[in-house]
Amino acid sequence: MSLKALLKQHFSYDEFRPGQQETLELLATGTPVLALMPTGAGKSLLYQFRAKADPTTDLVLVISPLISLMQDQTTKARDLGIEATFINSSLSREEREKRMAQLADGKYKLLFVTPERFGRPGFMEILSKRKISLFAVDEAHCISLWGHDFRPDYAKLSEVRAALGNPLTLALTATATAEVQKDIVKSLGLEDQMQIMAQGLERPNLSLNVEEAYGLEEKTEALLKELSVKPGTTIVYFSLIETLRKVSQQISRKGFDHLTYHGDLPADLRRKNLKNFMRDESPLMLATPAFGLGIDRPDVRLLVHMEIPGSLESYFQEVGRAGRDGKPSRGVMIYDEEQDISIQMEFLKWGNPEAAFLKNLYRLIETRRAELDQGGMEFLREQMSFKNRRDYRVDSGVNILERLGCLAKSEDPFPWVALEAPSDEMIAMERMPERLKNLNMKLLLMLRWAKDEEFCRMSRILSYFGHETKPCGVCDVCRENFDA
Ligand code: ADP
Ligand code: MG
Repeated sequence: MSLKALLKQHFSYDEFRPGQQETLELLATGTPVLALMPTGAGKSLLYQFRAKADPTTDLVLVISPLISLMQDQTTKARDLGIEATFINSSLSREEREKRMAQLADGKYKLLFVTPERFGRPGFMEILSKRKISLFAVDEAHCISLWGHDFRPDYAKLSEVRAALGNPLTLALTATATAEVQKDIVKSLGLEDQMQIMAQGLERPNLSLNVEEAYGLEEKTEALLKELSVKPGTTIVYFSLIETLRKVSQQISRKGFDHLTYHGDLPADLRRKNLKNFMRDESPLMLATPAFGLGIDRPDVRLLVHMEIPGSLESYFQEVGRAGRDGKPSRGVMIYDEEQDISIQMEFLKWGNPEAAFLKNLYRLIETRRAELDQGGMEFLREQMSFKNRRDYRVDSGVNILERLGCLAKSEDPFPWVALEAPSDEMIAMERMPERLKNLNMKLLLMLRWAKDEEFCRMSRILSYFGHETKPCGVCDVCRENFDA
């Protein structure tokens, strides 16, 4: 049967999305593939297909850093009739052991795990009882020290792969520069073997626009202007919760009903707002960029950045959440060069805390559960003697510890639990001077892109990802040039 017929039979879709068929064809010949496809393009289908439509498959292993999405990914696979499960630190020990025993017994065709799982006692042994038909590395850019989201556990995946007998490998990412692509291939030990499939990166329906503003007041004015034309479903991103709150008050006063989503909201309210965002006809959401990951709302018509993001990778990934349904959509970045760059520079500084700081922070989280559940981030700030509300070192430290695999998300009032103290080796990697220089460079390129009024915005981003294209015709620069 043809791939297309299998698609129809198992997934009820008539057509492949760009890149899907090509990737599946390569995998069918045993060729490892790095698939670079934008968010929402249908990367999950690639491993689901191998789990569902290939009768020779024993186990498809999907490695992902995003614990918060695993339940959802598993549910989606189960809805497709795939015997799927996940194993990560959010499960009780009992539940985890139950799933591991079932796995060893040959149950499950699709398994989602976090990369740190391979280092846990007994896990590799259980996997060795199965044939890994596909080793899928989701969010593969996390493997690269030069990516914006490096995770040390990812760096060990080539060892894991080798220990599992070099199974057929599929790396997936929505965001990787040419440099990071090379790094992924190399880190997986697949130089000269892995094919890079970059497709569907073009977003012809997405118009990118940049507006310069001075100060928050002007930014808010610009935002209000965007909102006044009733744009439909809208997401507005903020780097700082404090700014989000201010703007939220301002636009409420002007009569714009909206939802919010950020780390300082209690978990139940976050859940409620997310539900309303999915349900309302044309919601307006003010959020930090963590909102949107894995959210399936294809009709986002307007996506606003209220500050300049730290890199073109982050920007493109975030703005790419608009217009997944293919209908005309607008991305608007409203930026204040001086203020935004200084915020980003502070983020970079906070993002590079001293080893002692990370260790102390970890110890507090490990040992002061009751006080944390009571006082949350504020308690941590006090303990680390940061009284200033605008000091985000503690928040940033918590995020780093999570990325390093030292903390895991939890359902407790303080939403993280301690797993493993950060090692000196981890911290040293994190604090490598080249890495910092690279992050600074990314910010600089982001700023240059914003200030450039000569080249098509979309094609500049795509060429940053190693993809040459014609001018898009719909960004502010192209429109200006066509008018002239
Ligand atoms: P991502 O690339 O971000 O991981 P997903 O795999 O979550 O994206 O897919 C986004 C949506 O696209 C899903 O709801 C999925 O069902 C849908 N989808 C995937 N492939 C196809 C296809 N060939 N035709 C129609 N819809 C598809
Ligand atoms: Mg995905």
